[in-house]
Amino acid sequence: MPLSFCSLASGSSGNCQFIESQTTKLLVDAGMSGKYIKTSLETINVSIYDIDGILLTHEHADHISGLGVLMRRYKLPLYVTRKTWEVLSDKVGQIDASLLHVFETIDDILIGDIRVKGIKITHDAVDPLCYTFHHESCKIGIATDLGAISDEVIEHFKDCDLLMIESNHDIEMLKVGPYPMYLKRRILSEFGHLSNEDAGHIARELIEYGSVKNILLAHLSQENNFPDLAYETVKGIIEGEGLVIGQDINLDLTYRDKVGKLYRIVKER
Ligand SMILES: [Zn+2]
Ligand SMILES: [Zn+2]
Repeated sequence: MPLSFCSLASGSSGNCQFIESQTTKLLVDAGMSGKYIKTSLETINVSIYDIDGILLTHEHADHISGLGVLMRRYKLPLYVTRKTWEVLSDKVGQIDASLLHVFETIDDILIGDIRVKGIKITHDAVDPLCYTFHHESCKIGIATDLGAISDEVIEHFKDCDLLMIESNHDIEMLKVGPYPMYLKRRILSEFGHLSNEDAGHIARELIEYGSVKNILLAHLSQENNFPDLAYETVKGIIEGEGLVIGQDINLDLTYRDKVGKLYRIVKER
């Protein structure tokens, strides 16, 4: 079992992802309540007490709202950059200092037997990061709250066996929807979120490199998207290249309020 992945929740209202190797269990973000995260892990037969560490992508509330509880009640260690911790420490409350692992930058660290590589992205947080997770020859990527796609982003996520990618909004729904103009501008900018079309294009580009096998759509907006719309838009862009979903590539959704499918990435040697 080289690497497993399960989305416990993903969306504008909360994010938490689970990654596991044979000896190491990690959470990425803690944007749901401690109770939700504990119960979600139990549905995939994982005890929250066995989690080896939490990594944060950035300090927005939908990524950290359960962090204080996880660190205090379940004594889970946190791996975080100094800049993010500086804006976060007040919100988390009193925690055991021995649980805190602060880095100048998380560009390449080893937690247990999982190597974590991060790159800086343009989203409007103090030190936002996107991660890939490596164990043996398996690679998993989490690409949410991106803001914009750059060559560095494509390079970072190339060759992922599984890539979870932001498909936040439908551009037309966002434009005619209820959000105030400043918020619409922010979401559409390089400091905001990727649209369904953006997700389709980055997926297609990465598939062209030949090794991405599983694409999971993530961080869907409740107000400016529908799961079926996100899925069909991305499917249309990928299949426009002559690829067949379910045959050449697996395309799946993650959910705002329920646990997604458990993926086990196993590669032939
Ligand atoms: Zn954010
Ligand atoms: Zn977010």
